[in-house]
Amino acid sequence: MRDRLISAKHTTRYALKNGFHHEIAIKFHHEGAPTSILPRATRGRMQEGSDLRVLRGGKVFLMAEPKSPLDVLIVGGGNAGLCAAITARCAGARVLLLESATKDLRGGNSRHTRNIRAMHKAATAYLTGPYGEEEFWEDLLQVTGGETNEHLARLTIRASEELGEWMPANGVRWQGSLRGTLHLGRTNLFMLGGGKAMVNAYYNAASRLGIEVAYESEVRELKIGDKEFLSAVAICNGAAREFNAKAIVVASGGFEANIPWLKEYWGEAADNFIIRGTKHNQGQMLKELLQHGAKPVGNPRGCHAVALDARAPKFDGGIVTRLDSVPFGIVVNKEIKRFYDEGEDFWPKRYAIWGKLIAEQPDQIAYSIVDAKALPLFMPSVFPPVKAGSIAELAAALGLDPSALVAVVDKFNREVRPGAFDPASLDSCRTEGLHPPKSHWARAIDTPPYYGYPLRPGITFTYLGVTVDEQARVIMQGDRPAKNIFAAGEVMAGNILGKGYLGGFGLTIGSVFGRIAGREAARYAIS
Ligand SMILES: Cc1cc2nc3c(=O)[nH]c(=O)nc-3n(C[C@H](O)[C@H](O)[C@H](O)COP(=O)(O)OP(=O)(O)OC[C@H]3O[C@@H](n4cnc5c(N)ncnc54)[C@H](O)[C@@H]3O)c2cc1C
Repeated sequence: MRDRLISAKHTTRYALKNGFHHEIAIKFHHEGAPTSILPRATRGRMQEGSDLRVLRGGKVFLMAEPKSPLDVLIVGGGNAGLCAAITARCAGARVLLLESATKDLRGGNSRHTRNIRAMHKAATAYLTGPYGEEEFWEDLLQVTGGETNEHLARLTIRASEELGEWMPANGVRWQGSLRGTLHLGRTNLFMLGGGKAMVNAYYNAASRLGIEVAYESEVRELKIGDKEFLSAVAICNGAAREFNAKAIVVASGGFEANIPWLKEYWGEAADNFIIRGTKHNQGQMLKELLQHGAKPVGNPRGCHAVALDARAPKFDGGIVTRLDSVPFGIVVNKEIKRFYDEGEDFWPKRYAIWGKLIAEQPDQIAYSIVDAKALPLFMPSVFPPVKAGSIAELAAALGLDPSALVAVVDKFNREVRPGAFDPASLDSCRTEGLHPPKSHWARAIDTPPYYGYPLRPGITFTYLGVTVDEQARVIMQGDRPAKNIFAAGEVMAGNILGKGYLGGFGLTIGSVFGRIAGREAARYAIS
C-alpha cells in the first residue's frame, strides 16, 4: 500500500527487532492508519508529502530518497565494512551501511575470527616478541609463492602496526593467545571474546558515531556509468529501494557461500563442500563489479579449505568444526586408501591444504583414524569422535569395509620405524616403504579405544576479487581507477594474498583496506 505523509510528530526512540538499527516512533497520519513506525533512516528526511509505503504489520518505508544524497554507502557489515564506516564517519561523512543478514547474525565471517596478524617492534602484554616488516613480508612471500602485489602487501604490513591501538580505541579488547591456536602468540593479537565481540564493539562504535545501519538489506544491483558509481538497488526487509551516494565501499566478502558459482569451477563436488562462514557471502557485489568492467584478481577456483568435521552444519559452523587430528593418525578415503602424507609438516603449515585434498577424493569424504594415545594431542572436537574397541568395529561404525581398514592400519603399523616422538618438532617417527609416506609423528595405531572422524572440505573463503590501488579504488579494465568505487576485505584480498594463507591475515587486509577505503571514500564525497 502506498501513501502520502500528511503530518508527523516526533515522539520517542523505539527499537524494533528487525529492520533499521535504531528506529524512531513517529505519530503521523496517512490514509488507512492513524499511527505507525517510521525507520530511523528516514528521520530528518521525512517531510509532508513524502512518498510512503505501508507494509503489513504497520511498518512504514519512505520510498523517495532524500534530496541530498548520502556521502558514503557501505555494502557489507563485517570487519572491512565496519572499519570503513567508522573511518568515513570520523572524517565527517554521512554513512549508511547495508547488511544482508539479520541483526543477530551480523558480522559476516568476521564474527568467526579469533586473531589478527599485526606488525610490532617489541613484545607487549599480549604478544611474546617482536614481529617486524621483513619477517612479516618473508612469511607472506613463502605462503603465496610470490603471488602478491609487493607494494600493496608492504603497505598493509606497515599500516597493520596502527591496529594494536586503533582497534581498542574502537572498543576491541585483547587477550593473551590460547593453547591450541596454531602457535601464533608472537605474531598475532587475540581479541577477547573473539570476532563476535570485535564486531559488536564496532557496531556499538558505529552507533555512537551516528552511522546508519540497515539489516536485512541485500544489495542486488549497482548502477555504474563511466567508472562512476551512481546508485545501488537493495532489497530492504522485502521491499526494493534505490540508494544514491557520492561514493561506495564494497566490503561484501567473497563468494564462498554461492554453491552454484563454486560449481562452475569445482563441478558437482561443490555440493559436498561445507561453508564455514555466513550464507550471505554470495558474491553478488563481486559479480556486479566484474560485469561493470572491474579488473579481476586471484584464481577463480582458488579457495581456502580445511579438513572439517563432516557432521558440521552446511553454513556458519565457525571455528569449532575444524579437526586437527590429521597429523596424529592416518587419513583414508571412502575406498580406504591413504592419499597424502599426514605428517608432511607442522599442522599450522598444512591444515589449509587438506580441504582441497579431501575435495579431490571420491564423494569428497575422508576419515581420520587415531588411537587412544593420540586423542589428547589435538584440540578437542565439538562433535565427539566415533569410538570403538577395535579397528574393525570402528570401520563398521564409520560405514567402511572392516577388513579393508584393518589391512590398511596393519600395513601402516608394520612400516612405522622406531623414533623419538615429539609433536613440537619435525620428529624422527616416520614410515619406510609406504606410499604415500608419513614423514613425521608416525606411531603404530595400536592402543584402544580407536577413534574416527568423517571429514569434508570446509571452505573458509574464495580468492577471486577485484583489483584495487593503494587508495582502495577499484581498478577497471584498461587499468584506470573507478572515480568513487572502493573495495575492502575479502572482496579485494586476492591482490595481496594470491594463494595460500597466513593465520590472522584476513583481518589485517580487511582492517587496513577498510580504513583506507573509508578515508578515501569520505575524502571523495566531501571534497
Ligand atoms: C571459521 C572462520 C575463522 C576465521 N578465523 C580468522 C581469524 O582468526 N583471523 C583472520 O584474520 N581471519 C579469519 N578468518 C577469515 C576472515 O573471516 C575474513 O578474512 C574476514 O572476516 C573478511 O572480512 P570481510 O569484512 O571482508 O567479510 P565478512 O566479514 O564476511 O563480511 C561481509 C559481509 O557482507 C555482507 N554481504 C554480502 N553480500 C552482501 C550484499 N549483496 N548486500 C549487503 N550485504 C552483503 C555479508 O552478510 C557479511 O556480513 C576466518 C574465517 C572463518 C570462516
